[in-house]
Amino acid sequence: MTTSQTISIKSDPSTDIACRTVDQKERSLLRKVIDRIADRCRSRSLFILHYCTGCGAIELPPTITSRFDSERLGIQPMVTPRQADILLITGYLSIKTLKRVILSYEQMPGPKYVIGMGSCTINGGMYWHSYATIKRLQEYLPVDMYMAGCMPRPEAIQQGFLQLIDNIDKGRANAWQEYYCNYDYYLGNQQALFGPDWHTPTDVIAEAQHYQLFSENTLGEHTALLAKFASEYVTQPIPTKVLQREEIVE
Ligand code: SF4
Repeated sequence: MTTSQTISIKSDPSTDIACRTVDQKERSLLRKVIDRIADRCRSRSLFILHYCTGCGAIELPPTITSRFDSERLGIQPMVTPRQADILLITGYLSIKTLKRVILSYEQMPGPKYVIGMGSCTINGGMYWHSYATIKRLQEYLPVDMYMAGCMPRPEAIQQGFLQLIDNIDKGRANAWQEYYCNYDYYLGNQQALFGPDWHTPTDVIAEAQHYQLFSENTLGEHTALLAKFASEYVTQPIPTKVLQREEIVE
C-alpha cells in the first residue's frame, strides 16, 4: 500500500476502502494474530447449555462437580442459550424435543459448538426403531463432536471436552459455519420432519450475511418457502441469489 492511499483512508473515513467489509481471505496478518489470540481465550472459557434429553443427564453432575470438576478446564454450565458456547445434547432426541433444541441453537451467538453425547445422537442407538426419535443429529444441526457410548462415562466426557478445547484453540471447530453456508440442507431436513411450513423466528439468512458465510448453498428450494412468512419474521427481503460483498455492505 502506498503512503498516499494510507493518508486517504485516514483523512476520509467514509471512503469505500475505509468502510467496506473485509472478507476472511484478505484479512491482514494482524487480524489473523488477533483471531488466534481470541481462539485461545475462547477455548479457556466455555459455557455449556446442557440439554438433558436422555439418560446421559445422569453423567453430568459428577462431570461438573468436585469429583471430575470440569470447571478446572474452564467449562461450566449456563442457563441461557444467549450466553452459551456449547450445546450439549445428552442422548436421544424426540421429534418434539428437536424443535426446542433447534430454537435454542439458533439463539446462541457464534461461534458455537454442538456436542452429541451417546450413541442415540449418532445413529439412534437403541431407539433406532422408535417412530418418535430422530436418528442422526447432524442432519438437523452441525455437530462438532460426538461422544460415543451408552452412556459415556465422565472420564470420556472430560476427554471430549479437552479435545474440543484443543480444536477451538487451533481454529478447527468451525462446524457452526456450516449451518449458514448450507442452511437450505438443514432447513430441508427439518421440514421433512416437521412439515413444509416449519420455520423459526430467527433470520438465519441475515445472520449468514452478517458473518460473511452466505454461500450458494445458503438458499434453495426449502428457503424459498420462507417467503410465505417473510412479513412475519424476516427483517430483510429474502435474496434470490448469492450476494456479492458490495451488495451485502449496501
Ligand atoms: S445412548 Fe444409551 S444412555 Fe444415552 S440416551 Fe441413548 S439409550 Fe440412553
